[in-house]
Amino acid sequence: MARADIKLGYSCNDACIHCVVDDFRDALREQGLHQDKTTEQFKEEMRESRKRADLLVLTGGEPTIRRDIVELVSYASSIGYRLQMQSNGRRFADPTFADALCQASPVHYCIALHGPTASVHDAVTRRAGAYDETVAGIKNLVERRQQLTGKIVLSRLNFEHLPETVDRFIALRVPHISIAFPHALGTARKLWDDVVPRYREVIPFLHRALDRVRRAGIGADAETFVYCHMEGYEQFISEIRQQLEDYVELRQYGSPHELIDWTSERLAIKRKFPQCNGCRFDAICEGPWTEYAEHYGGEEFKPLFGAPVRHVRNILDSSFRRHRSDLSPVALTLP
Ligand code: SF4
Repeated sequence: MARADIKLGYSCNDACIHCVVDDFRDALREQGLHQDKTTEQFKEEMRESRKRADLLVLTGGEPTIRRDIVELVSYASSIGYRLQMQSNGRRFADPTFADALCQASPVHYCIALHGPTASVHDAVTRRAGAYDETVAGIKNLVERRQQLTGKIVLSRLNFEHLPETVDRFIALRVPHISIAFPHALGTARKLWDDVVPRYREVIPFLHRALDRVRRAGIGADAETFVYCHMEGYEQFISEIRQQLEDYVELRQYGSPHELIDWTSERLAIKRKFPQCNGCRFDAICEGPWTEYAEHYGGEEFKPLFGAPVRHVRNILDSSFRRHRSDLSPVALTLP
């Protein structure tokens, strides 16, 4: 069945430099509206999306700072959703809170840690003490045997620390790590020079980090990375799994279109290049975010030659790795 991503609102106890929701916060402020949905608004949306979706992802802002979060999680579970939650994890540092939420329903938590040390993570989140609370929160969730994914959003402040951040997650016994290239909306757009690196700068650190993932035998995915940058690491591209999902809808509070068909919208806000026409991955590659392509151009994106790959399932097929010798030997030249 389908997935619904519903934003509860935009209040947050961090202030990340890569945050994409600032434009919606501004829009709500200009309209004199509250930053967060009411309990009843949210329950109504959950009921409406339940007609199509059986998996609910709670996002924000920071869902755990809402006073009604235990009630909302219990309600979602009672109407038949499986649950995921994206969180900065800080409130789980309080064992009483962690117990209350874990007892309300099973939830797959996706907890963001943006650096291997307090100096890196707190610079990204712009909140002193955030690292210590997030690490304590992850430990509490691991102790309570919750399903867990570790999230890292890359920026100029942290991409060189990516392999060590992956090591930190491995040491914390997090079984899956999700690494995302920044999307230059909201704060990320306003602080572009501090936030958005070039792919060619990031890729060597990403490959080193994924080597550590392989050695540790855990799972990982890398979001908004393209095949011409991922030779030998293609299976980690997040969009492979996204293309295999059924319909996904997004409820973007503060947007003029509050209910968005994310399956098609995701493709509409990415960009390809003229040279992609000759690439063997053209049929399945989504390209980078439009803002990146418009700002930096397409010279980093070099077509790969060989037998066309028509469906993402072919990448997951074990025969794909055996046939990788089809690839051009000069797929990408990194300076
Ligand atoms: S050249 Fe274009 S189609 Fe090929 S992997 Fe790169 S971005 Fe994707």
